[in-house]
Amino acid sequence: MSKKIQKILKKDHFSKQDIVDLLKTDEKERQLIYNKANQVKEKCVGLKTYYRGLVEFSNKCYKDCYYCGIRAGNKVVARYDISDERILESVKFAYDNKYASVVFQSGERDDAKFIERITNLLKKAKEITNNKIGITISLGEQSLETYKKWFDAGAHRYLLRIETTNKELYYKIHPENKKHIFEKRLAALDDLKKVGYQTGTGVMIGLPFQTYEDMADDLLFFKKFDVDMIGMGPYIEHKDTPLFVHKEILLPLKERFNLSMKMIAILRIMMKDINIAAATALQAIDSIGREKALKVGANIIMPNITPTINRENYQLYENKPCIDEGADDCTSCLEARIVIAGDDLGYNEWGDSLHFAKRKQKEGVV
Ligand code: SAH
Ligand code: SF4
Repeated sequence: MSKKIQKILKKDHFSKQDIVDLLKTDEKERQLIYNKANQVKEKCVGLKTYYRGLVEFSNKCYKDCYYCGIRAGNKVVARYDISDERILESVKFAYDNKYASVVFQSGERDDAKFIERITNLLKKAKEITNNKIGITISLGEQSLETYKKWFDAGAHRYLLRIETTNKELYYKIHPENKKHIFEKRLAALDDLKKVGYQTGTGVMIGLPFQTYEDMADDLLFFKKFDVDMIGMGPYIEHKDTPLFVHKEILLPLKERFNLSMKMIAILRIMMKDINIAAATALQAIDSIGREKALKVGANIIMPNITPTINRENYQLYENKPCIDEGADDCTSCLEARIVIAGDDLGYNEWGDSLHFAKRKQKEGVV
C-alpha cells in the first residue's frame, strides 16, 4: 500500500480516486502525505505563519444552518452585538501587537442598517491604523453591490465556506428554503472574485452522510474554482442544533481530526501557493491541533481577539477553545506554540495569498 501512496504523491495532478486513496491512508502512510505537504509548504510559501486577529463581533444570525450553534432557531443562546467602539479597540490591539490583519466575522444579516454599519466600521478600522491593517471579512452571502461597498471601504479578503460541494448533502445540513440556496452560495463566491477580493472558501469535514468521495470532490472544486484561501476543519456537533440527532453515525472525533489534517495536507500539495488556515475547530479536538496543521501545510492562524465576555456566546460548536482567555493571553500562548511547531511568524506582514497575486497577473490586472 505504501508503494501506491508514494506513487500517487509523485504525480502532478491527483484524480478523484487518488484523493480518495490518500484520504483512506492509515497512520503510517499518512506521514508520507504530511512530509510531502510540509516540503511543498517550505518551498512554495515558506515555513511562516501569518496571524489574522479574529473578532466574532455578533452572534445575531437570520439563517438556520442545521449544524450551527448560533442559528436563528436556537432560542437558548444569548444574543450579543459588540459595539463598534469595542471592535475598534480589538483592531487597535491587533495592530499594536503586529498582527497586521484582522478578520471580522458574525452571523449573517443583510439589512441596510447592518450593511452601513460594516461599511463605516471598515473605514474606521483603516483610519485608526494609518490604512495599514489588512481586513478579511466573513459575513455570509450578500449582494454584489454590498460586496463592492465593503471592498471599497477597505476589506480585501473574504471567507465564505461552501460547507460541502455535494448539493444533496448541502440540503441535509441546511433547510431547503430561500435563505439557503446552494447555487446562490456558488454565485456569491463568483461575485467575490469579480469584485476583486482574495477569495476564500472551505468545507466541514466529518459531516453526517459525508463520504470520502464527497471530500475528494471538495478538494477538486477548490482547484477548479481557483481559490486563493481555504479554511476547513472538522464538523463538531452542537447539542442545541437539529443535526445533533445524527451524532451516533458520526466518525469518532479523532478520525474527523485526522481527516481534516489529511485534507489540509493533500490540498497544500494540490494548490501550492494558496493560504490555508489552521481552523480553530481543530483545537477543540486536540489542544495542539492548529500547530499540528501548520506542520502539514497550513500557514494562517486566526487568534481570537474578541473581548472575552462575549466569547462564550459565539459557540458555533461545543468545546470551543480559549473562550475564557483574553487577547493578551492568546498572543503569548500562540507565539510559543508556533515557534515550537517550527514556523517563523509573519509579524507586521499581511501575508497575502501568493496565489492571488499570480491569478491577478494572469488576468492582466496588475
Ligand atoms: N455566518 C457566516 C460566518 C460565521 S460561521 C457564515 O456562515 O459564513 C463560520 C463557519 O463556521 C461556517 O462557515 C461553518 O463552516 C463553521 N461552523 C458552523 N458550525 C459548525 C460546527 N458545528 N462545526 C464546525 N464548524 C462549524
Ligand atoms: Fe448563521 Fe453562519 Fe451559523 Fe449559518 S453558519 S447559522 S449563517 S452563523
